[in-house]
Amino acid sequence: MKTNCSILFKLLLIQCLAILCVSQDFDFFYFVQQWPGSYCDTKQSCCYPKTGKPAEDFSIHGLWPNYNDGSYPQNCDPDSTFDRSEVSDLIRTMEEDWPTLACPSGDGLKFWGHEWNKHGTCSESMLDQHAYFQKALDLKKKANLLQVLKSAGIRPGDGKFYSLASIKEAIEEGVGNSAYVQCNVDPSGNSQLYQVYLCVDTSASNFIKCPVLPRGRLCGSKIEFPSFGPSRSHEEHGEL
Ligand code: 5GP
Ligand code: 5GP
Repeated sequence: MKTNCSILFKLLLIQCLAILCVSQDFDFFYFVQQWPGSYCDTKQSCCYPKTGKPAEDFSIHGLWPNYNDGSYPQNCDPDSTFDRSEVSDLIRTMEEDWPTLACPSGDGLKFWGHEWNKHGTCSESMLDQHAYFQKALDLKKKANLLQVLKSAGIRPGDGKFYSLASIKEAIEEGVGNSAYVQCNVDPSGNSQLYQVYLCVDTSASNFIKCPVLPRGRLCGSKIEFPSFGPSRSHEEHGEL
């Protein structure tokens, strides 16, 4: 009887530990890309990074671990700080594909550090710092969002308005999975394509159907896709 009880106790303990461990984990990622034209085309404006004006392309905002119920973990490990030397081979690509547009102008380290501390540390059981940034860069290439939209005739700066359905349909067709599209508002009050959320499995390798959609800025019925075209030289490096 005593042995039975102790086995039962051990099993119970293992189960409790397993539940505790699982609750530390996460269910999927949101891979979030921003349209620089819309980040900058607001009342708040933006600043180009010290490395120069980014290309007219979607750029990475972040790779965010999430739970299926819509909640999410954040700042999971205060002891794990962003270390540039761990991603030194990725910096050139991060400057291109993950530029910072916040003011004042920065070199990206603060933005990447923020994303690592807030989100990256919550998927550390799956991806170390190098793998986390590498995966995000790979996912951007894999999604190829701008090309996907262009192939569906949705082009930045063409002065047209698009429906949310047409944008979502183009992404579903081109990427193979549905996306959550977030809008912001330009200084004249028009709704514009701001961020695209794609859902990704816990290995950060494959796009999946979103288990739950984020809460956030909805889009108007007519959506602009503003340009982020070639800059005038006096605008470069400075506040717009
Ligand atoms: P999050 O919204 O991901 O929690 O925080 C983003 C933080 O990174 C904010 O403090 C924001 O000012 C900063 N940041 C720096 N560059 C960028 C950028 O290009 N896009 C966005 N969304 N945030 C940026
Ligand atoms: P916002 O309130 O501007 O939509 O989001 C601010 C910041 O909170 C984001 O940049 C991101 O860091 C975090 N955040 C907002 N919504 C979500 C979400 O649904 N999942 C996760 N993981 N983070 C989110």
